[in-house]
Amino acid sequence: MNVLVINAGSSSLKYQLMDPQTGDVSAKGLCERIGIDGRLTHKVGDNKVVKEIPMPTHGEAIASVMEALVDAEIGVIKSVSEIDAVGHRVVHGGNKFADSCVIDESVIKGIEDCIPLGPLHNPANLLGITACQKLMPTTPQVAVFDTAFHMTMAPKAYRYAIPTEYYEKDAIRRYGFHGTSHKYVARRTAELIGQTEFKMVNCHLGNGSSMAAIMNGKCQDTTMGLTPLAGVPMGTRSGDIDAGVVQFICNNYNMSVNDCLNMLNKKSGVLALSGNLSSDFRDLEDGAKNGNADCALAREKFCYEVAKYVGAYAAAMNGIDVITFTAGVGENDGGVRAAVCEYLGYLGVKIDPEKNNCRGKEVKISTDDSKVQVWIVPTNEELMIAQDTAELVK
Ligand code: AMP
Repeated sequence: MNVLVINAGSSSLKYQLMDPQTGDVSAKGLCERIGIDGRLTHKVGDNKVVKEIPMPTHGEAIASVMEALVDAEIGVIKSVSEIDAVGHRVVHGGNKFADSCVIDESVIKGIEDCIPLGPLHNPANLLGITACQKLMPTTPQVAVFDTAFHMTMAPKAYRYAIPTEYYEKDAIRRYGFHGTSHKYVARRTAELIGQTEFKMVNCHLGNGSSMAAIMNGKCQDTTMGLTPLAGVPMGTRSGDIDAGVVQFICNNYNMSVNDCLNMLNKKSGVLALSGNLSSDFRDLEDGAKNGNADCALAREKFCYEVAKYVGAYAAAMNGIDVITFTAGVGENDGGVRAAVCEYLGYLGVKIDPEKNNCRGKEVKISTDDSKVQVWIVPTNEELMIAQDTAELVK
């Protein structure tokens, strides 16, 4: 089966054509500068082709993807009809979507209704969907929501302690993000440890970071909230912050709330703590090794906050059996993993430094006598989207 996975942003669009059973990717690529000029990067195995193609809208971008996929030289299929289904990443499903679903008129309306909750992403996701519907009117399209995995949270986890009207009228609550990644890692971990009933904390640590408390495959709690700003500090996002700070900064710097939130989303996190040196953990590691105290603090603060949430989730679930690390930092940065686990000795967490000395591989890094298994499980959001899509259209 061929599933085309689409992740449409406002001016870019990523795609992968893959087999959901084997996970084999026959082609993948990226459309950039949509609405500006347009550039397609198409990869088949180790071969990469870059083409400048006018892309005034997402329609031309998707059309260029189709052309590349069926091209005599760089293509991998003979005709677009060989694409069995399209899976679309949709960022915000609000409290309307607790699972992936086949796209019809009512789903489009539901995604539109969630635009106030995901104003940057949902409109772009919709552009990708409508462009595919026009070019492949008979191919089933599936929406896979970043928020859906977290819809199993109980009210005590998702409600904010603010007046009820904001929840009832405006659906203001904790939603959480990276749900497709958390779902993939939870399922894969169950396969790796050969169990279905266990308590885990998944640490998705990348440029954006979120953690999820997962019991028997179901999300109990997660660090991000109404928006992806909440939780642990990230590359450029502050993570959790006292709302009073917003008031103070707006009043004292004559800043609008929007400008303040822009600062908290784009100019904060480890970037700010490092003295604006970098949001990339590799640069922070180099800086810390060369004696830069700000870089060292940025990494220390990050690991401390991640460890605090593991502790909080151990309390929330009355124990944990497995901790998993995933995404750019979680999969690659052994120093971060070691520093986080160092805080968790009281839970009986012990990692083997030699096993931890690896990158991007599925591997158990805890010792045999550790009370909690610790694993690196590289995430694969595209495969999860393809599998959900295949499941719904089969
Ligand atoms: P993601 O958002 O999951 O793509 O993660 C991107 C981030 O992962 C980058 O900004 C880096 O901070 C981090 N990263 C990627 N590769 C490495 C590596 N080899 N060592 C440490 N951090 C890495």
